[in-house]
Amino acid sequence: MARPQPARSLARQTLSSGTEAARLELLEYFLIHHDDLQRCAQASLEWLHRYAGVKRSVCLLADRDSGTLVGVAGFGVGADDVEMSESSLSDEGNPLVGALASAEPIIINSGRANGGSTRAALGPGAYAAVPLRGVRDREEGAVGLLLMRPGSDTTADLSWLSTVLGQKLDQIRGRGSLAEEVRKLRRERSLLFTIINSVTDPIMLTDTEGRLIVANARAEKLFAAGEEESEGRRRAVELNNMLFSAALSRSAVEGPSEARELLLVDPSEGSDLLFEVLSSTVEDSREGTGIVSVLRNITDLRRATEQIEENYQRLRVLEAEARTERDRLNLIIDSVADPIIVTDPTGETVLMNAPAEELFTVPVTAADIAERNVQANDAHFSSFISGLLLGEGGPREIRRGEIGLVNPSSSELIPVEAIAGKVQSESGELTAVVTILHDRREALERVRLYEQLKLASDELQARVQAATAELATQNELLRRQAIELEQASRLKSQFLANMSHEFRTPLNAILGYTHMLLHGVAGDLTVAARRQLTRIDSNGRHLLTIINEILDITRIEAGKMPIQISEFNPSEIVPEVMAELDPVIARSKLIVTPKLDPEAPPVHSDRQKVKQIVVNLLSNALKFTHQGGIEIAVMHDADTGSVSIAVSDTGIGIAPEHHERIFEDFRQVDSSPSRQYGGTGLGLAICRRLAGALGGRIALRSNLGQGSTFTLTIPVDATP
Ligand code: ADP
Repeated sequence: MARPQPARSLARQTLSSGTEAARLELLEYFLIHHDDLQRCAQASLEWLHRYAGVKRSVCLLADRDSGTLVGVAGFGVGADDVEMSESSLSDEGNPLVGALASAEPIIINSGRANGGSTRAALGPGAYAAVPLRGVRDREEGAVGLLLMRPGSDTTADLSWLSTVLGQKLDQIRGRGSLAEEVRKLRRERSLLFTIINSVTDPIMLTDTEGRLIVANARAEKLFAAGEEESEGRRRAVELNNMLFSAALSRSAVEGPSEARELLLVDPSEGSDLLFEVLSSTVEDSREGTGIVSVLRNITDLRRATEQIEENYQRLRVLEAEARTERDRLNLIIDSVADPIIVTDPTGETVLMNAPAEELFTVPVTAADIAERNVQANDAHFSSFISGLLLGEGGPREIRRGEIGLVNPSSSELIPVEAIAGKVQSESGELTAVVTILHDRREALERVRLYEQLKLASDELQARVQAATAELATQNELLRRQAIELEQASRLKSQFLANMSHEFRTPLNAILGYTHMLLHGVAGDLTVAARRQLTRIDSNGRHLLTIINEILDITRIEAGKMPIQISEFNPSEIVPEVMAELDPVIARSKLIVTPKLDPEAPPVHSDRQKVKQIVVNLLSNALKFTHQGGIEIAVMHDADTGSVSIAVSDTGIGIAPEHHERIFEDFRQVDSSPSRQYGGTGLGLAICRRLAGALGGRIALRSNLGQGSTFTLTIPVDATP
């Protein structure tokens, strides 16, 4: 039970020093509360504590009407102890009853039987029972008793107090049946405390200054602590009082009826407790204005609210994360060109990317055929997926298969390869199936193209093989032909050589005999005979030239033209050639001018062949020149180490297109039967071959009607 603590206000009032002043204050208090027996008794015990150092004391009243000794106030003891200290006045053996009759205080040993709860309340050991004497009832014995542990020096104050308190009690008691009143009061108070203590929320009555007047058990735990209690607990209680006073003064400013939160400390556990304070003002005729405060513990409520709020926040974060993840996933699967479908464990589609939507969804406005196509696609896909959903395969099972889908709008068949895998939660539960469809048209087309290409390649290979074989045959044929040709050519050369030789012998004989006849070996000749013989001689020589040329060609071709190297001066060739052709020069009436280089060094070459070439070039120049002149120039080029002999004429010239051809065997610019110029067409062919044999060459500079220059260039030293 809670302790009524009205004396706190007295305690504050009696702070002034000095015994007289203290006594005066108690007497004033008696005056103010003149009819309240309990208050006066309580104030007296507190006074004793303050000024006489009595830590524990109980005030008992002898009610003669009911024949009982009743506890009315206590200090430093429990309220229950005070109430339970009631005993009968007729009990002669009770030392307390004896003490009532005594004139002086007596010491009672608590070991004796009739100490009751008073003894327990005051603690073990002896205590003093001080009789409180009234004015009128000296013969009846004392009005009441003051039980206490004797203080150090209590005598003066104690005797003063016992006197004034005895008289006061006697005075109040004279006004009515005291015991009855006390009991009634007690019952009411007991009921009241039972009620407020049964409330688990702290309930308090405070005065307008914030001082505690009444508190229930729960409030006491928070706001009251005895001196014997621990330092920590007392501090916590002190703090709670401060916090509560502050809350009350706030509510006084902001309006008392409003509920407000108050954070207190649990004195026994030190943990925070959150209360909602509901305060209301009450008016009491005796106590004046007070404030009743009910504190509702909302710590758990707040904790739960905070937990809910925290969970909600966490949920929102998780939701946002999931949303982000889903967006990211959407972005990824939308960026994939192949259709992707995510299905839940029941086979329902939960997600698909744009390419998949084209196959499995249809706009409302689409044609019936498109809708049927989509349904067909759906059916094919579902049957594929069900295999995976029903299958016994492990968590990592991947299912592959071919599905024939159709383009909903065009009904074009799309063969796809489907690859499906399971998605499982951390607990191993199947949460989704992801399927990727890969359009196989391109791959199939590639395979088809590859087959075609392979076919074409094989065909080509066969053709190449056939062509190669044909080529080999042709080559073989050609090789044989070449051999045959070579044999034929050799035979021809052989034949020509033989024939030339065979021709030359009789021809030389003809020329010899003609020569002898012309020189009169057979006697003088007539003019006519001489003319005929001269013609024979001339034609015979021409024939000999032709035969010699043919012989030269065949010899060269047969590789049987011997080269005889000697040292000579090329300039000395020119007058020799001119001398040889002198009759022709004379007949042509052309001027032949030699231009020799005195610096030209002697050369090592075949003298006869160089001369043969220059004779040939000069006779051609004489043949194809009708007017103007001919120049034979010898030049030396020290840089290249060569010597050149150039024959230039002012004749008919040669068109550029014939420059190369005239060097071929038997080739003439004019080869018609009605041609103007005689010749075999072998001269230049022989010259080029001879020049080549000497390591040199023949160059031509000419144009039609502008004369020609044939230049023979040979190395200074032709030694092979
Ligand atoms: P040919 O015995 O016909 O002279 P060549 O081989 O010596 O044989 O000459 C071949 C041809 O080259 C000649 O028929 C002629 O048409 C041409 N030809 C050679 N030299 C001259 C030249 N100095 N001027 C013009 N034409 C020439």
